[in-house]
Amino acid sequence: MKLLEDAILQRGRVKDGDVLKVDAFLNHQMDVPLINEIGKEFYRLYKDQGVNKILTIEASGIGIACITAQHFGVPVVFAKKTQSRNIDGPVYTSKVTSFTHQREYDIIVSKSFLGPEDRVLLIDDFLARGSALLGLIELVHQSGASIVGAGICIEKGFDTGGKLVRDSGVPVESLSIIKEFRDGKVVFAD
Ligand code: 5GP
Repeated sequence: MKLLEDAILQRGRVKDGDVLKVDAFLNHQMDVPLINEIGKEFYRLYKDQGVNKILTIEASGIGIACITAQHFGVPVVFAKKTQSRNIDGPVYTSKVTSFTHQREYDIIVSKSFLGPEDRVLLIDDFLARGSALLGLIELVHQSGASIVGAGICIEKGFDTGGKLVRDSGVPVESLSIIKEFRDGKVVFAD
């Protein structure tokens, strides 16, 4: 998606070799018109698949998922990263290793909000090693819901996650795919 690639080139910053900072427009300060175009594009890609729920993971997926959900007219559920006192009753749970913080944590979703009747679109900002997405996929499997696919803003095409998730049978649509970071600059896949 050209608009997103332009934003990455103009407003993104490469840090520590393999971390792309997009906090000027995607996951700290949020460029809402841009994210609205992202949501529109996810809708175009998945509109015929009977999506009735969008699932993401806190925190940076939530804003993107909410704007996308307005195009689908469906609710958003976000996986919480720690056991919260505010959740009563039974939960689905799985483990995720954080790419950015290099530690493992539990993610949970209340059983009230995901079940066999759901057709779920997964949304996240990044796909790198795939841990976040695979954790969400595991939650959906526990719930008996169907996974329609995943919508990712930025996939690190050089990392292992894209292949892992696609090989697991989940379709992935990434709006930008990074081939490599070369001399501190982003190079996109063709
Ligand atoms: P994965 O679980 O696929 O390894 O990584 C996905 C998660 O790590 C995303 O939810 C995202 O928040 C974070 N992440 C991975 N790579 C980057 C990156 O280069 N920059 C930023 N800002 N976040 C990243």
